[in-house]
Amino acid sequence: MKKITIAIDGFSSTGKSTIAKQLANALEYIYVDTGAMYRAVTLFALRKGYIDEENFSINDLIANLDQITLQFKYNEQVGFAEMYLNGENVEKEIRTLNVSNYVSKVAAVPEVRYQLVKQQQKMGADKGIVMDGRDIGTVVFPDAELKLFMTASPEKRAIRRYKELIDKGDDVKYEDVLRNVQNRDYIDSHREDSPLRQAEDAIAFDNSDMGLKEQFDRIMNLAKRTIEA
Ligand code: C5P
Repeated sequence: MKKITIAIDGFSSTGKSTIAKQLANALEYIYVDTGAMYRAVTLFALRKGYIDEENFSINDLIANLDQITLQFKYNEQVGFAEMYLNGENVEKEIRTLNVSNYVSKVAAVPEVRYQLVKQQQKMGADKGIVMDGRDIGTVVFPDAELKLFMTASPEKRAIRRYKELIDKGDDVKYEDVLRNVQNRDYIDSHREDSPLRQAEDAIAFDNSDMGLKEQFDRIMNLAKRTIEA
């Protein structure tokens, strides 16, 4: 069967990765969570002290980008590929609100984007991939056969993310999660390099009031139709 590239973009916490994982499993495609890559670079910058509340030493980060090795390793127990930073599994640490609070600043640096986009394009060179992020349909794979753009109200998204973090045992406040979601949306949509926007040929998908099953069925139908076309 013909293999295609599926690009899923959209605002923070719109459930992109949940749907992308399900889709990749059903189609037996590779799934790549590009947000995890930007999060891992952010964790590296935080640990090295290149970024904190007051300062961001962009030049130090750029000068040390070649010290960062990112890998996805499939974990059978959880059913998806986890993120490794220089050989260390950082899957849990990159999902904290602390990393979320800095990631959009790091992701706005063109040199960071250049490196990560190159790696992402390599991973998808043979198609048969579902990739989610902010610039997949516009920059990474502008020729993707199926492009989706996910949206939902900020409050719905913040509630989802808040529940996820609480379930993981993180001690967070709903107001802080909402502020983070709104800040990231703002920075991601207003940066100069590869801002978050809907590709002209992307299908918009508002899942504010849609259950997971309905969402999956609809998107799976779109994917099947595109594969068979
Ligand atoms: O998808 P996730 O919320 O984990 O992404 C974290 C952050 O990484 C986003 O808010 C954005 O700043 C950045 N990102 C990006 N381009 C991508 C994926 C993520 O700029 N393709």
